[in-house]
Amino acid sequence: MNHEPKRRRVSSVTPQKADLHIHSNFSDGKLSPEEIFLLAQKFQLRAISITDHDNVAALNISKNLAQQYDIEFIPGIEISCRKDRTEIHILGYFIDPDNVQLNSYLKYFQNERMNRARQILHRLRQCNIIIDWEELKSRYGERSIGRPHIAEILIEKNCVKNHNEAFEKYLGDDCPCYIPKYKITPSEAITIIKEANGISFIAHPGVDIELQGLRDLIALGIDGIETVHPRHSIAQIERYKQLVKQYDLQESGGSDYHGDKKLGPAMGSFTIPYEIVIRLTAYHSKLQQ
Ligand code: AMP
Ligand code: ZN
Ligand code: FE
Ligand code: FE
Repeated sequence: MNHEPKRRRVSSVTPQKADLHIHSNFSDGKLSPEEIFLLAQKFQLRAISITDHDNVAALNISKNLAQQYDIEFIPGIEISCRKDRTEIHILGYFIDPDNVQLNSYLKYFQNERMNRARQILHRLRQCNIIIDWEELKSRYGERSIGRPHIAEILIEKNCVKNHNEAFEKYLGDDCPCYIPKYKITPSEAITIIKEANGISFIAHPGVDIELQGLRDLIALGIDGIETVHPRHSIAQIERYKQLVKQYDLQESGGSDYHGDKKLGPAMGSFTIPYEIVIRLTAYHSKLQQ
């Protein structure tokens, strides 16, 4: 039997689409990079980016998969930041996964996430829920460990019915077991991404950022805005596209896929035209000269 992945067949009438916001099981997604590429092939995506939370472990394997599956791959990341009291996310594209400075920051974030997970387990114990730290560490310790992993165990233990209940009762902001995550400033995230030869984008501004906040981020030297996202209304997408034009920025978008319909919409359900990827690539290449 031939195990070679099928070559992409793109007819002239197939719309050329890209999904530039996908999480793998190296952060809080469910699917491995290979499973992600298989789906991207099924949905006839021309280009994808894996943008794990504070983690680049999926990127080198994905570069090889991209060749095998004949799908363009943009190495990405989604960095958690704090602006005033709000958590915001900055996407980095075209980053070098082997960049030494980037990796030393990520190692530090990883440690901080582990410390925080431990503190969350401690709080859960005070609510009479016992989760073994060694078990959590052996299952998820290699990833960007976060609240969704703990929610998973709460569901398995029948403490809650689903992720939403886990967040509503225990893990969500202002809940009894909430411990804030270590976060850097947006300016620091932009610098880290730049040092790793990447370009930075404001992720899903419609979720958490007011117009003035967006203008502040633009003034910090962000390269673009994620206009298309499942949590953006059509009116918001239009508004962000106008801002992109007004400030001469780049545009990105995607499904924020986490590999499970319980965790959000399917991969490829929110896409951008491939022409935008061509524009992004040219913009990035020009910056590198
Ligand atoms: P963390 O990085 O550990 O703070 O976890 C943040 C992740 O938890 C987000 O990226 C979402 O995937 C997930 N999340 C946040 N709030 C909720 C919620 N209310 N219900 C389900 N999942 C959530
Ligand atoms: Zn996530
Ligand atoms: Fe995000
Ligand atoms: Fe995301």
